[in-house]
Amino acid sequence: MTQLSPLVRPIFENNLRRNSGEPEFHQAMREVFESVSLAIEKHPHYADNSILERICEPERQIIFRVPWVDDAGRTQINRGFRVQFNSALGPYKGGLRFHPSVTLGTIKFLGFEQIFKNSLTGMPIGGAKGGSDFDPKGKSNAEIMRFCQSFMTELAGHIGQYTDVPAGDIGVGQREIGYLFGQYKRITNSYESGVLTGKGLTWGGSLVRTEATGFGTVFFAEEMLRSAGKGLEGKKVIVSGSGNVALFAMEKVAQLGGTVVACSDSSGVVYDSEGLDIELLIHTKNEQRGRLSDYARARGSRSEYRDAARVWDIAAETRVDVALPCATQNELMADDARTLIRSGVIAVAEGANMPSTPDAIRQFRQAGVLFAPGKAANAGGVATSALEMQQNASRDSWTFEHTEERLALIMRSIHDRCAETAEEYGRPGDYVLGANIAGFTRVADAMIALGVI
Ligand code: GLU
Repeated sequence: MTQLSPLVRPIFENNLRRNSGEPEFHQAMREVFESVSLAIEKHPHYADNSILERICEPERQIIFRVPWVDDAGRTQINRGFRVQFNSALGPYKGGLRFHPSVTLGTIKFLGFEQIFKNSLTGMPIGGAKGGSDFDPKGKSNAEIMRFCQSFMTELAGHIGQYTDVPAGDIGVGQREIGYLFGQYKRITNSYESGVLTGKGLTWGGSLVRTEATGFGTVFFAEEMLRSAGKGLEGKKVIVSGSGNVALFAMEKVAQLGGTVVACSDSSGVVYDSEGLDIELLIHTKNEQRGRLSDYARARGSRSEYRDAARVWDIAAETRVDVALPCATQNELMADDARTLIRSGVIAVAEGANMPSTPDAIRQFRQAGVLFAPGKAANAGGVATSALEMQQNASRDSWTFEHTEERLALIMRSIHDRCAETAEEYGRPGDYVLGANIAGFTRVADAMIALGVI
């Protein structure tokens, strides 16, 4: 691990001590500190008034009990979180994650990343994240609804279109947003569309929001390849995951002429050497709420399903040009990075939040692989949420084409902002540095202007 600069090390160490038992939050902070120390070196005023200390301390953290009754009549208890990290740029904005692994540390790492991601979009949104250790897997529709209603009963008092605007993340899609919005509407007796994003099209949602994170990740990858004189056309691609982000990343890769040969879910990997049937995959996952094993069965002999396999191992058997980790944090490790590099990978763009470990990122950078960190590459989701808020505020709804065009423009400008910042700091092509510094300086400038609050 590289040593942190003495400019930021004491702040980092103090934060480790004050936030013990939150390793993912430490990891996210450390990466930002490594980059930001260069910004402070160049512009020492960024060390004034404890900007970095303040940015690491959430403005508000809400933890609450979520009681609900299951189908068997038993009372269940989960824990709910909302970490309102930073509102210098706009109302708090960020998704809700429902997954049994969720702890306060998980939500803090995600909320911290969200500050810089949202800043990079150039839009007026602060950073937040929330969720619960509730496990949606195997729950009935009625149980999901009762859980969401109970969760919102507590959360409602803390959010609002000008205060905090949650959305989806792992385990929270349009169905859950629907139940959450319904309960918020009931509690507040107002149709405040702008309080949540990721809504359905008939009740205030935006076209392209569902596809936005995956599409945006691929737009970013394409920009990155273009700046190196290449493109996705004819490239072989591996995607991890098969949730919302992964599915629409695959769709966009196919539209741009690439071939996705493998993806994964928590049970296994599907490998189609000639390319996955993305339409069938989306149908199996979204319409049938099925698993990859169901897809493989429907696809027949052209598909190979491997139980309990790792998706990155496919790169040991076949050439892979582009990798898109779209599942979850720390899913791509140093060994996986080595496998991909040996396979000939030229670009990696993160659709998930922090999917590559610090060691894996180091491998990619050393090997000269184009590497786009999640806070830049997956910002299309939240950016389109901000477009949904714009449509809600003006009581308008835009066409698919117009919204997708806006998304593509936003991704290009995020790419250029990262690339130019990396260049300015003498590290051309270092998108990690570019994303962290460009994200940080916009928030820091606003925090300075707003005074010590
Ligand atoms: N959960 C998504 C993210 O990680 C989207 C957040 C939003 O739309 O507010 O950025």
